[in-house]
Amino acid sequence: RVSIRAVSRIGRNAGGAAVLVFEDITHVEQASQMRRDFVANVSHELRTPLTALMGFIETLRGPARDDAAAAERFLNIMQDEAERMNRLVGDLMSLNRVEGDERVRPTEAVVLNDILDSTLRTLRSLAEEAGVTFEREFNGDPVYVMADADQLKQVFTNLIENAIKYGGTGERVTVRMTSSAREPALRAPGVRVQIVDYGPGIDPVHLPRITERFYRADDHRSRALGGTGLGLAIVKHIINRHRGRLRVQSTLGEGATFTVILPVQTV
Ligand code: ADP
Repeated sequence: RVSIRAVSRIGRNAGGAAVLVFEDITHVEQASQMRRDFVANVSHELRTPLTALMGFIETLRGPARDDAAAAERFLNIMQDEAERMNRLVGDLMSLNRVEGDERVRPTEAVVLNDILDSTLRTLRSLAEEAGVTFEREFNGDPVYVMADADQLKQVFTNLIENAIKYGGTGERVTVRMTSSAREPALRAPGVRVQIVDYGPGIDPVHLPRITERFYRADDHRSRALGGTGLGLAIVKHIINRHRGRLRVQSTLGEGATFTVILPVQTV
C-alpha cells in the first residue's frame, strides 16, 4: 500500500487546472505502524504474566490462605512469571541498546576463538541439564575481528541457547568456525561461525521473518521454554553493527543451522 500526502498547492497552470505536489509517505506510515505494533506486542507480553501474578496473589489471600502445599505451588508459578517479565524487560533493554549502537563501528580487535570458548563455558551447565553435548569444530589459530566482545558473546549465547532449547534432548550442538581470504558474502576476508542443531528445525515458511521482534515459529513451544521472542532480533542488530550477515537454513525434522558471517581483521 502506498500513502501519499499533498505537500503544496502550486497554483493554476495556463489551462486553469490546479497543480498539486505529492510526497510519498509510505515509509513514514510504515514506521509509525511498526511502532504501534511493537507497543501493542510489548503490552500484551507484559500483561499476560502480570495477569497471572495478580490472579495468584488474590488466590493466596483468599482460598489458598491456609493451604501450605497449594501456596508453595502458586509461589513457584509466580516466580516463573516474574522471571519471564524480568527476561522480557532485560531483552527490551538489550534491543534498545544495540539499536542505538548500530551506527557506531566497533573498535576492539578481539579473538573470535576466545569469545566462542567463553560462550561455550558459560552455557556448559545449561547444556548438561538438557543432556546436550557440544561438538567444537575449530582449531587454535586465532581469528581476529573488529568487535564489541560483549555483544558478540550475546550473539553466540542467544544462538547456542536456542540450539539447546529447540534442539531436543540427548542431541549434539555443533559450533564450527571457518575463515577464508575471500568470503563470498562479503567479498572480503571473512569468517563463518555455524551453530548447528539436530532438532525439529524450522518450517521454511517462517524463515524470512524469523529475526523479527516477537516472531515465533512455534509460539507454544517458545513460551513453554520461556522465550521472549526477541533473541534473534537482538542477534540481527548486533551482526548489522559488525557489518556481518546472518543466514538460517533448516530442513524440517533434521535441525537448523544459523551462520554468522563476519569480516576478519587481517594482522
Ligand atoms: P525465542 O525467545 O522465542 O526463542 P528467538 O528470537 O530467539 O525467540 O527465536 C525466534 C523463534 O525462532 C523461536 O520462537 C523459535 O520458534 C524459532 N527458533 C529459533 N532457533 C531455533 C532452532 N534452533 N530450532 C528451531 N526453532 C528455532
